[in-house]
Amino acid sequence: MSDIIKLLPEHVANQIAAGEVVQRPASVVKELLENAIDAEATCVKLFVKDAGKTLIQVTDNGKGMSPQDARLCFERHATSKITSSDDLFRIHTKGFRGEALASIASVAQVEVKTRPGNDELGTHVSIEASKVINQTPTQCAEGTGFFVKNLFYNVPARRYFLKSDTIELRHMMDEFQRVALAHPDIEFHFSHNGNEVYQVPAASIRQRIVHILGSKYSDKLVPVEESTNIVTVNGFIGKPETAKKTRGEQFLFINQRFVKNTYLNHAVSTAFQSLIPSGTFPLYLLYLEIAPDQIDINIHPTKTEIKFQDERSVYAIIHAAIKRALGKFNIVPSLDFDQETSIHIEPMRSGAELTPPQVHVNTSFNPFEKSSTNNERSHALRGWFDRKSADVSGWQELMTVATEIERKQTNREALFSEEQHDGELSFMQHARKYVICSANGRVLVLHQQRAHQRVLFERFIHAINSGGSASQQLLFPDSMEFNALQWMQFNACREELESLGFQFENANKQRVSVMAIPTDYHGSYSSESLLELLQDTQSVLEYSAERKASIAWSMARSNAIKTGQMLTQPEMENLFQQLMRCSEPYAAQHQSPTMFQLDPQQLETYFQ
Ligand code: ADP
Ligand code: MG
Repeated sequence: MSDIIKLLPEHVANQIAAGEVVQRPASVVKELLENAIDAEATCVKLFVKDAGKTLIQVTDNGKGMSPQDARLCFERHATSKITSSDDLFRIHTKGFRGEALASIASVAQVEVKTRPGNDELGTHVSIEASKVINQTPTQCAEGTGFFVKNLFYNVPARRYFLKSDTIELRHMMDEFQRVALAHPDIEFHFSHNGNEVYQVPAASIRQRIVHILGSKYSDKLVPVEESTNIVTVNGFIGKPETAKKTRGEQFLFINQRFVKNTYLNHAVSTAFQSLIPSGTFPLYLLYLEIAPDQIDINIHPTKTEIKFQDERSVYAIIHAAIKRALGKFNIVPSLDFDQETSIHIEPMRSGAELTPPQVHVNTSFNPFEKSSTNNERSHALRGWFDRKSADVSGWQELMTVATEIERKQTNREALFSEEQHDGELSFMQHARKYVICSANGRVLVLHQQRAHQRVLFERFIHAINSGGSASQQLLFPDSMEFNALQWMQFNACREELESLGFQFENANKQRVSVMAIPTDYHGSYSSESLLELLQDTQSVLEYSAERKASIAWSMARSNAIKTGQMLTQPEMENLFQQLMRCSEPYAAQHQSPTMFQLDPQQLETYFQ
């Protein structure tokens, strides 16, 4: 057999390596920012065009490169940061693999202009698909500027799979945030298509956090400090009220490198346990310093994973440090009736084994009491229980009837007046959480909070789709200042918010005045609720249908009746009626059930 194995050409090998290192424009941003930091820059500027698809430019005032280095830096395995494998355990720089620039230059058109402080002239190198096409001396500022143009111009499949500008920009902002938060002593600028996204001066860690995450955190940060012979922990955790439903604001830095580590993340979450509602994530920015020989960074080309020699001890130290910080600042558990519990009641199936029911006594319940205020409607509703009592076996059937009623709403009274009604329709609230509706031996249990969320969701989604909803002017316009991320989210959702009835003014430079809110939002609106809405919607920003649904669910959640809230008879009846009119009444968000029907047959069997 003839020989078939060949060594891959250099540029093909580089492109293969680029598959791991350069996944999207944000990867280029990360590598270039990190190189600037390794070059000891004190000011780093990032300019981006078209979410990085046209241009990513990073200029720094660092130590620059000699003419020879300016060419060599694009070679694979070319690095000034390590010389032997032992150095892998003495790493104090961000880079060490010498493959980022080689990878980038294999999938983009790259130029570098660089000048070390002591040289009069700098060097200009242009490279395309791993080939140097030009190198000339040039006049330029001290430091280095990289220009990465038309990323993936020669890998159409990669370019095709890039996401919308909004999403790619979001990824770049994430990378920028991580680098800027890790290095508060360096000044950073970031602009996109000529608009400033961030401009952060050199500052303390606390100031940097506020500059990047927003001034709303300035009085919500609790310092964490712990020094042991294994690891030093510094940084901040957010007070429990800053916990969010997404993981976005959790930062772990090890020797000034952002890393992802689920195990250590768990150490933080468990320390917060019982202080924050389940399903929410605490804000934290922890800066760990650990001897480089105690960790291994060389696990993945992107270097966001780290192995520890003694991970358990690090876990225990972080956990204890956070507990201590919380204790020191008197942050103690509080009772919160609004907390959603995760109890799910499965509908009973025939043949299922019955367990004795738990008896809870509502001392204020009066079985003889009738709804006096809404007799007419009660009477009407009683009708459909009567009409179907013989042949209705499940709640799905009840819904059909309710829809039928809805359709014939105009002659509703007529519909029911023909009927003979012996059954009673009554409502009772249980545990300030459930509404128990009973009629003719049937018992339907509604989860009050979820049921109302479903009702409101359908109302809001209809408003978004049809537009022109009623607005209520705010007496005092609510002036808000967004951080860069929120500003992007706001612009992506603005149209839907306006269809709902929001009115905004002076929406520029990350500042917005809320002039009017949807009439239906009255009572629940606050700047925080709007920010929460934007946060909830961030993962689906580019998908129109999901974005609308997310906005509607978010509004429904903040507006709905809560668990723990007492309901009057008319309120319970109203809720029931409205739910029955929904197009999908059975479930709230994420398919969590809104109702449960007790099977009258099973009830009978149990007591026989
Ligand atoms: P690594 O960072 O792993 O060494 P890179 O491919 O990112 O590999 O960079 C290769 C080399 O180019 C670096 O080791 C460094 O010497 C030089 N270099 C890259 N960016 C800069 C910069 N902004 N300023 C000075 N030197 C740089
Ligand atoms: Mg590098």
